[in-house]
Amino acid sequence: MAEDQTALRVVLLGPPGAGKGTQARLLAEDFHLLHLSTGDILREEVAKETALGKEAKGYMDKGELVPDSLIVAMIEERIGEGKQGFLLDGFPRTVGQAEALERALQRRSLSLNACLLFEIDDEEVVMRLSGRRVCSKNPSHIYHLQFDPPKRPEVCDQDGAPLRQREDDREETIRRRLEVYHQQTEPLISFYEERGILRRYNASRSVEELHNLIRADLAALRLEGELAAGA
Ligand code: AMP
Repeated sequence: MAEDQTALRVVLLGPPGAGKGTQARLLAEDFHLLHLSTGDILREEVAKETALGKEAKGYMDKGELVPDSLIVAMIEERIGEGKQGFLLDGFPRTVGQAEALERALQRRSLSLNACLLFEIDDEEVVMRLSGRRVCSKNPSHIYHLQFDPPKRPEVCDQDGAPLRQREDDREETIRRRLEVYHQQTEPLISFYEERGILRRYNASRSVEELHNLIRADLAALRLEGELAAGA
């Protein structure tokens, strides 16, 4: 397969709670991209009690990373599905995963267009995540006690189900997730900087502001690709 110059293949990098998932959902819709969130895929596997889910749960509840071998296979299976490109949210999280992704893309004669780095202070992450509540019936219905409270306390506006806190959104676990991010994921900043594809964003901006900025950058990037393909 020759490299498709008009597709967008993008990695979202940043600590938990930086807003990668929110932006990924918006951008996937803007550009018709496949949104792959390893956290969401794993949570689904846990809910369905699959073998992978059972193995992953212990790591997730403690805020530790699930072993690379399990994650890489999960992503490799899926990246081919995004014909117009993909947004990877929460992957890669280690240099080993980044290298495996690079090899998987090379085998398809493809490469990444951009790595978007979401920069935010640890204390802001703790504040954002410890106030997060999710619907017990549909975890994509997300609230925040301070910034986006439900109309009735502890009840989902959309389906009336009780809200709950994700096991890994407890303060102690959030702090462990941040430590894991600094130790194991931050080295990816220089990995992608060396490849000349890193773009930095201040993730403490509002959702809308950040979305507008990234959307403009990705539109320009796609246009460059289209011009190169047409040349
Ligand atoms: P997230 O929703 O992206 O914060 O992911 C929740 C949890 O899933 C993480 O704390 C890890 O335990 C696990 N996880 C998600 N993505 C990865 C990954 N790329 N590598 C290892 N573990 C992951």
